[in-house]
Amino acid sequence: MEKLMLGVIGDPIAHTLSPLIQNTIAEKLGIPCSYTAHHVKLDTLPDFVEMARKEFRGFNITIPHKRNILPYLAELDPYAAACGAVNTVRIENGKLYGYNTDGDGLRAAMAVNGIRMEDQDIVLLGAGGAALSIFRKALQVGAKHITVLCRLPEEAAAFSEPGVTVDFFDVETVSDTLKKYIDKADVLINATPLGMEGINSHFTDFSFLDNTRAAVVDIVYKPSTTALVAEARKRGLTAMNGLGMLIYQAVYAFSIFSGETFDFDEMAAHVTKVVSAAIYKEN
Ligand code: NAP
Repeated sequence: MEKLMLGVIGDPIAHTLSPLIQNTIAEKLGIPCSYTAHHVKLDTLPDFVEMARKEFRGFNITIPHKRNILPYLAELDPYAAACGAVNTVRIENGKLYGYNTDGDGLRAAMAVNGIRMEDQDIVLLGAGGAALSIFRKALQVGAKHITVLCRLPEEAAAFSEPGVTVDFFDVETVSDTLKKYIDKADVLINATPLGMEGINSHFTDFSFLDNTRAAVVDIVYKPSTTALVAEARKRGLTAMNGLGMLIYQAVYAFSIFSGETFDFDEMAAHVTKVVSAAIYKEN
């Protein structure tokens, strides 16, 4: 079998988990594969693309190139087009085809936890790249209502769709802003870095969780139990971190690269064990 040549590009890229995840998937499937991380800056993106056209079957893309790659694509999947961002590129006969697996990744991870987007009232905290991919997926699968909370007025435009509520928050008063919307919500999704290991920005007040039955989805996955997840569980709410999103988006990407279908849930469970052992000290 021909070796699958794959990679991931980004700037920075040193801490990416993608090689561990993708090589684990390939090994489990018995597919010979080389998946490597490439530090690509904007001015070296053209050189990387030229090399990849000749050498690679595909590659993943992380910050800051999810949009920068668009001019190089022969075709763009409709959902990726709606997101305006690509995280997975498949290469065929030197042509690049763009996809975005983040939305399906989160949706599948939510399903494992018994949480759905369909027909749900969703409060989405954050308005960056991840929030936009989640927003587009929630719209696509028929969320009942979406409220997007962003910090900057210029970010609101990307979320302006019929029936969507957009409001603004700042970190100091985010609990009060959430209280306005969460009582009728079915799902709260945190798509900001609030509570992430290594950053100095945290929720300071969780009283917004006191009077809700919403399931809580934190797309942050380090620490494994974020303060948001811990506080939600303390109140008896269903809550999950973002590791499943990271893993399912990669599982779907591997399927796109390789053209193979396999049991995605079984694969994600296997990869979760491997990655958790590598990144969580408490395991
Ligand atoms: P991004 O494009 O930089 O957007 C971040 C969003 O959070 C923006 O709305 C931003 O607002 C807001 N924000 C930034 N710093 C903040 C802070 N200190 N306090 C409150 N809000 C803040 O980033 P992204 O790619 O969407 O990623 C967002 C988070 O999701 C990150 O923690 C990332 O690690 C995580 N993530 C997880 C997965 C996964 O697979 N689990 C995938 C993608 C991302 P401003 O624009 O006003 O700064």
